[in-house]
Amino acid sequence: MTSSRTASLLQGIGIGQGVAVGPVARMAAPLPAPDDAPSTLTVEAESARAQASLGRVARELEAKGQAAGGAARDVLEAQAMMAEDPTLADEIASRLADGKTAEWAVYAAFASFRDQLAAMGGYLGERAADLDDVSQRVVADLLGVPAPGVPNPGHPFILVARDLAPADTALLDLDQVLGLVTSDGGPTSHTAILAREKSIVAIVGVAAAADLADGTTLVIDAAAGTVIADPEAAVVAEAQQRIADRLAIVSAPIVPGSLADGTPVPLLANLGSADHVDEAVALGAEGVGLFRTEFLFLDQALAPTVEQQRAHYVKLLAAFPGKKVVVRVLDAGADKPLAFLNDAHEDNPALGLRGLRALRASEDILREQLTALAQADAETNADLWVMAPMVSTVEETEYFVALCREYGLKTPGVMVEVPSSALLADRVLQHAEFASIGTNDLTQYTLAADRLLGSVGAFQDPWHPAVLRLVQLVGEAGRRSGKPVGICGEAAADPLLAVVLTGLGATTLSMSPSALADVRHALQQYTAADAARLAEAALSADSAAGARAAATAAVAAETPAAAHPNTTSEAAPTAAGSLPTSGAASTATDTNLKEATS
Ligand code: PEP
Ligand code: MG
Repeated sequence: MTSSRTASLLQGIGIGQGVAVGPVARMAAPLPAPDDAPSTLTVEAESARAQASLGRVARELEAKGQAAGGAARDVLEAQAMMAEDPTLADEIASRLADGKTAEWAVYAAFASFRDQLAAMGGYLGERAADLDDVSQRVVADLLGVPAPGVPNPGHPFILVARDLAPADTALLDLDQVLGLVTSDGGPTSHTAILAREKSIVAIVGVAAAADLADGTTLVIDAAAGTVIADPEAAVVAEAQQRIADRLAIVSAPIVPGSLADGTPVPLLANLGSADHVDEAVALGAEGVGLFRTEFLFLDQALAPTVEQQRAHYVKLLAAFPGKKVVVRVLDAGADKPLAFLNDAHEDNPALGLRGLRALRASEDILREQLTALAQADAETNADLWVMAPMVSTVEETEYFVALCREYGLKTPGVMVEVPSSALLADRVLQHAEFASIGTNDLTQYTLAADRLLGSVGAFQDPWHPAVLRLVQLVGEAGRRSGKPVGICGEAAADPLLAVVLTGLGATTLSMSPSALADVRHALQQYTAADAARLAEAALSADSAAGARAAATAAVAAETPAAAHPNTTSEAAPTAAGSLPTSGAASTATDTNLKEATS
């Protein structure tokens, strides 16, 4: 697996905490654009060809969805619907009427739709890749050639692609695919969502992935977001040790989240659909810390009815009898546009009419949602908590809490995602029953860096001491008022940062279910006093990288075995040496590599 060539280090966005080692196998190149020459067939004949292929591809995608189940089924069914979308059919027909071939008509119609979707950006923009995939499948069917897809080199491999189509990701043979590296795609692309769900080690947005040749050995590290090509033997050995350590962590018995001294830290799931509750329960979720209701309605032009919503909420709550389930009311705007709540053009949508502001402007929609939640609550016996997104003032807190109480909802709370509400957390918590810190937005607003914009992506790091200081303020307000403070942003899924957040006063942590095992393990290594010391070390730094390094150094100082974070000591099985390396925390090996490549 090793090579005498000089190692090179590429950076991307890691999904999860895993590590993988293996040779590259590249995804087959996309089909070339079809010929724009006039058809030699009649319009009717070309139309029949197009319809037959669109139907075949739709059925094939549905069948793949049925076989895959879970989130993949929803994605593949949505793609099957794209293949038979009536507006697209009209676009294809108008090109056929101009005497074009079915191949060209399909290709051009899908391309024009894809461009419109890509221009919308955010969640919808990332669906553009789904349309490309359907188009390629239909054109391949028309040409009678295999659809471009996952290679089969006959041995385990790391799949390198521009971006993965959902149909490919859904059916990956996990005995063969050791990991994924894509040049496109962000943290909310389908590749990322499905990789997270299937716990596949993935690094997305690696701009230079196109240069990775078939057969090149890679070490990929999701926690650090790195891809090392042609690694040295020591790097491979260290990665394999970490793979073995992680295997032990993810197969450890599932117990309630707690610190080493027994302080409970309930570990909850972030969910976007009631369809994924079984997996969350199986991975040990002790409840739900964030149910993102807007994900249910992203593709709807009209507000969902009370009945539609009630049915979803009943399904969710019924899966967690006696357990806490925190439902967030619709969070529209910026990266999650909901046409029925705000479709006005805004130059700065992240600073616009979003979250609770948008709901307040359409209070009937908020009232309907609270009605549906109260009905579902009455029908089930979960412990329902309800919270509002993007609350930036004490007055907004009072408004939301009063409205919830009107509907008999017993535990109203607010998300702390804007620095203003963190700074006034003591007053916010005089009204709200709990606070839940959304570190994704809190980081965006604290560092004034759009969380979707690649050019300022480096600012989007919740380790930044300015963000940690705000978390500390909320934690202290929670402690003084005796009210719970949860974390539900991606930060809670970073094992070492999860410990720091606990040290800053977080009482629960909520994350993608696939991150639960790593965080559960990390918490078990530290007492509450240790966590407070780690938090203090991180707070004293000047930068995100400095905070991460300070917390890592504090770990090493506390546990002698952890002074060598790349080895696992038999003598100290609970030492942080087996903690997955967090974020960009540099190991000695990384440093050597950077030197080797500079
Ligand atoms: C957050 O902002 O951290 C959060 C949990 O909400 P979302 O990511 O859905 O905006
Ligand atoms: Mg948010």
